[in-house]
Amino acid sequence: NQRKRVLLLTTPASYRTPAFLAAAERLGLEAIQAVDLPEPLAREWNVPLGVDFTRPERAAEQVAAFVREQPVDAILPLDDSATVLAALACARVGLPHNAPDAALAARDKYLMREMLAAGGVAVPHFQRFSAASDPAHIARQVNYPCVVKPTILSGSRGVIRADDPDQFVAAFARTRDILASEGWAPEAASILVEEFLPGFEVALEGLLTENGLQVLALFDKPDPLDGPFFEETIYVTPSRLPEETQAAIAETTARGAAALGLRQGPIHAELRINERGPWIIEMAGRSIGGLCSTVLEFGTGYKLEDLILLQAVGERLPEPDMAAPAVGVMMIPIPASGILRRVDGVEEASKVPGITGVEITARLNHPIAALPEGASYLGFIFARAETPVAVEAALREAHGRLRIRITPEIRLRPIA
Ligand code: ADP
Ligand code: CA
Ligand code: CA
Ligand code: CA
Repeated sequence: NQRKRVLLLTTPASYRTPAFLAAAERLGLEAIQAVDLPEPLAREWNVPLGVDFTRPERAAEQVAAFVREQPVDAILPLDDSATVLAALACARVGLPHNAPDAALAARDKYLMREMLAAGGVAVPHFQRFSAASDPAHIARQVNYPCVVKPTILSGSRGVIRADDPDQFVAAFARTRDILASEGWAPEAASILVEEFLPGFEVALEGLLTENGLQVLALFDKPDPLDGPFFEETIYVTPSRLPEETQAAIAETTARGAAALGLRQGPIHAELRINERGPWIIEMAGRSIGGLCSTVLEFGTGYKLEDLILLQAVGERLPEPDMAAPAVGVMMIPIPASGILRRVDGVEEASKVPGITGVEITARLNHPIAALPEGASYLGFIFARAETPVAVEAALREAHGRLRIRITPEIRLRPIA
C-alpha cells in the first residue's frame, strides 16, 4: 500500500505552501515540491526540482521528465503563477488537466472577458486600449461610470472607478504609472475599460469534478466595493444570501468554468450580484490566496487544502459538516502609503470573543503602499462564531482595536 504522491508547484515566498504541506502530512501523502527557482538554488532549498515558471513550456518539459522517472498521482499549482505550467505538465504526462488557455485567462483580464463572452457568459461591456493611448481622447468614447484596470496585474492593483471624463484621465494615467512601476512600458501594456457593475460581491471556493462543480465555501464580502479603489477586507462564510441567489452564483460559476476550459481541481471565483443576476469578475484554477483559507474547516479536522489534495489524488472527500460554525477573515486594509512603523493593539484585538488569530504579515520599518498602488497585505484577522453576523462583528471590533502607524517615506532628490 504505497503512499500516494503529489507534486506541488509553488514559489519561494508563497503563503500557500505551508498549508498544503501540512495537509499532505495529515493525509499521509508524499508531497514533492517544484519551486520557481533556478536549479542550484532549489538544491540549496532542499527541493528536488527548480524550474522557471515564466518559461512554462520548458518548465513543463522538466516537470514531465521528473514525473516519468518518479511518477506522481497529481500535479497541483498553488498560485496563479503555476497554473499554466500545471496544465502543460499534466497534459504531457497524461494527468487530467485544465485548458492552458484557462490559466492564461486568469492572468489576462481581456482574454478572460473574451473567453467568457465567447462561451455565452454575461460580461460587462469592455474595451481594451494600449496603455500608451491618450486618455483624453478615449475619455469621450467610454460610458460612465466605468472601471479602469490593467490587464495583467492582480490584487486590485490599478483597478480604479471613474465617474466622468476628468476622473477617467486621472485613473488611466495612474494605472499606466502602476504598470510602469512593475516594468511595463506603456507600449507593451494594455488597459481594460469596463462598464461599472453596481452590486455586492462574493467569492466562491469550489472543486471541479467529473460530476461538475462542488461548492466548498461561498464567502460574502460585507463591505461595499463601490470604488474608486477596490480593497478586499472582510470575507465571511457561510453566505447570508438566499438559497436561490446562491444557486444562481454556483450555476454562473460552473458556466464560467466551462467557458474558460477549467475542468478539474480547485477554482476560486469572484462574482458581483445585482438585479440582473450574478456576473463573473474573474476566476482561476487555484484555491483562495493569502492566509484566507486558514479559517475554513470541513468536518472534523479537514482543511480546504485536505479536500483539494484528496480530490487531486482521486480519494473520496469527507461528508460536508452541516453544523460547521461561521468563519471569517479580514484582510487588514492598508490605510496609507509610507513606512510601516508600528502595529499596536494586536493583543487587545486577539482578546475579542470569536477572534481566533491576528497576524501582521507586513514588515515593520519597510515601505507599504495603499491601493491602488499597493501590492501586499498588512495582515489578517481570523474569526469563528455561531453566526456570520457575529463573525463580522468580531472582525470589526478587533480591527478597531488595532493602531497602525505609518509615516511618510523620506525622499531625497537631487535639485533639478
Ligand atoms: P484583480 O485581478 O486585480 O483582483 P479584478 O478584475 O478582480 O482585479 O478587480 C478587482 C475588484 O475591482 C473586483 O473584486 C471588484 O470589486 C472591482 N471591479 C472590477 N471590475 C469591476 C466592474 N466591471 N464593475 C464593478 N466593480 C469591478
Ligand atoms: Ca486576479
Ligand atoms: Ca480578489
Ligand atoms: Ca480579483
